[in-house]
Amino acid sequence: MAIKTWDLVPNFKYEIASMPGGENIMKCFQCSTCTVGCPISELVSTYNPRKIIQMSLLGMRNEVLESEEIWLCAVCQTCSERCPQDVKISDLMGAIRRIAEKEAHKGNIKLKAVRPIFEEAFMHQLEKYGRLYEMGLSMEYYKKAHGGLISGMLAMQKDYQKLGMRLFKKGKMGPKSMLPPKIKRIGEVKKIFKELGD
Ligand code: SF4
Ligand code: SF4
Repeated sequence: MAIKTWDLVPNFKYEIASMPGGENIMKCFQCSTCTVGCPISELVSTYNPRKIIQMSLLGMRNEVLESEEIWLCAVCQTCSERCPQDVKISDLMGAIRRIAEKEAHKGNIKLKAVRPIFEEAFMHQLEKYGRLYEMGLSMEYYKKAHGGLISGMLAMQKDYQKLGMRLFKKGKMGPKSMLPPKIKRIGEVKKIFKELGD
């Protein structure tokens, strides 16, 4: 990848360091210990935490924030245990993801990964119902991930043709699952979300 110096944002490393979890980014001396032991790097050849840190230190803000790789960390903490510089890589990835989400909400970048869409839909269900509502989660996720209600419903139908019977057998699908769950004191849950949002 060619680096265009005029596109670099040198302050990006300070922006990350100011976020909870990102404090130690500038301690990284690029030894690669994190990447060598990372189970996700073994499965996905493009996932390289050392490279994400290097790009961030260089100021490649948009490339990092829009990359799908920042959403792949499984938070297993193997790298954090081994890093000689105490960089806390999974927390650092979380800090970068929070910046990416904020920038995407402002319309400054476009996220390519589907994980943030799923995470947002998941949290909306918890906020609304106090528990996971599978049908609501699927509807919201497919609509957003496929750019609209109709295209989302078509994609959902296709996927659920394969998955449907398995979910039905486990009681995750069926007449009962069509209705949202009800819990007592949902107001308390909403209060927690409000506090977190503030
Ligand atoms: S192990 Fe730590 S110091 Fe080494 S490259 Fe990874 S984050 Fe940087
Ligand atoms: S915490 Fe993330 S980056 Fe670190 S080893 Fe696990 S999956 Fe890889």
